[in-house]
Amino acid sequence: MKFSLKLLLCTMMVLATALGFSGYYFVNYVFETSIAREAQQALDDDSILRFAFETAALNVPAKYDMLQDQTVEQIASNLETGGQNTRRMLRLCDEQKNVLYMSDGFVADDGLLVQTDESTRTWQVVRLDNRFYIRTGSTVNALNRVLYLETMRNVSEVFEERELGFKVYRRVTILMLFLGALIMHFISSWLTRPIRQLTKATKHMAAGEYDYRARKVSNDELGQLTKDFNRMAEALENNMNELEAQIQDREDFVAAFAHELKTPLTSIIGYADMLRSRKLDEEKSFLSANYIYTEGKRLEAMSLRLLEIIVTKRQKIEMQLISTDSLFDYLQNMFAGEREMDFCFSREKAKVWAEPNLIKTVLVNLVDNACKASEAGGKIEVCGSCTENGYRFDVRDYGIGIDNKELKNITKAFYMVDKSRSRSKNGAGLGLALCVEILYLHKSRLKIASEPGKGSRFSFVLPMEIKQQENAADGTAQETKAGGLI
Ligand code: ADP
Repeated sequence: MKFSLKLLLCTMMVLATALGFSGYYFVNYVFETSIAREAQQALDDDSILRFAFETAALNVPAKYDMLQDQTVEQIASNLETGGQNTRRMLRLCDEQKNVLYMSDGFVADDGLLVQTDESTRTWQVVRLDNRFYIRTGSTVNALNRVLYLETMRNVSEVFEERELGFKVYRRVTILMLFLGALIMHFISSWLTRPIRQLTKATKHMAAGEYDYRARKVSNDELGQLTKDFNRMAEALENNMNELEAQIQDREDFVAAFAHELKTPLTSIIGYADMLRSRKLDEEKSFLSANYIYTEGKRLEAMSLRLLEIIVTKRQKIEMQLISTDSLFDYLQNMFAGEREMDFCFSREKAKVWAEPNLIKTVLVNLVDNACKASEAGGKIEVCGSCTENGYRFDVRDYGIGIDNKELKNITKAFYMVDKSRSRSKNGAGLGLALCVEILYLHKSRLKIASEPGKGSRFSFVLPMEIKQQENAADGTAQETKAGGLI
């Protein structure tokens, strides 16, 4: 069953119960009040009749010292007509509660008579042929006699009014329920609008439309739920996109890996086949063997690099405080005289938090790439400077540069802008991928700026040791272990 229908039914049930109870209570309250008023009226009539009877008894001739039954009947008959057109209904009984006089139609029931005595006036409602009466009972003292007087007053109108009240209220209740159902139908469908929006969104998302969002149509708890749902959908979509990108990267990686394996293997197999199937002269044999050797070496280097990347990814590093001098000395020793390049090393002295061997690998890779991208004798600048964010390393060359659209790809494994050029320089497109992994472990990022024909700048920042700072204002000294953000 739909939630809006449930809401409608529940409201209607509550409305019907409330209207039913309040109607019953109201009509009954009016009825009780009317009956009480009629009872009071009947008792007043009873008092008047008693008084009239006692007055009439006083007029009986003095020769009778006791009221005769006949006289009682005579007086009762007179009181019954009351000298008017209306007839009263009454009954008079003697001391032994034997009936002396009874009006026509008076209910011959002694229930009330039994309860009546000299000190008690009683009344009750009786029903006779679908008519209702208030019956009163009291005693009359006249000429040394105590008689029992009972009267009956027609109150059928009050009962009819009650019936009419119930009838009218029933109709009003049905009308109210009908109108209430109509209004509640609109209210419940308005209230459940956010739920319908959410259901619609889940259906769209289940059908693969992950960018579909539920429309927020209220500012209450359901509106908040819609907001949270959309936030969750956003997070899921992002995660999925990320996973898809990762899968795509992995597939690209496998494809590139297979391709990188295939190229040297094809040469190796070709030259090996030549060696085993033909008798070559000494020079050709040497060239073939040399080709097999260099391509084998390239494969070996490539597998070592791959291993390095995999190991780095799984590694947990222990950061140490190392001096930038040691890093620069290492680089200078490594590249001094080895290549015909115009190196320029400039540094600011500082201590940085890093894993020394891994950071050396990054720097060597960047400088090596700069050499490969430059002509012989080209200028390569390696700088270290203290910045607000930490210690910044820059490797700058004035070589071939990189096209803007290639920039986002060059850190992907096996990606080479110019494959033949890279391979000729023993490249496999793995160096920058390794650098990115290492810097990721250091919570740092590789920034690349390049312009084709003008050269490139590769830079990254490492956290720096913050030196003791004298606080001039209060004379206290502070030392922080690691500072700077990347
Ligand atoms: P490789 O082993 O081929 O050097 P890298 O991952 O280090 O692999 O570099 C990927 C590609 O990025 C290189 O093939 C080269 O095309 C380009 N590249 C890297 N550094 C530079 C640079 N300093 N100048 C121009 N191109 C560069």
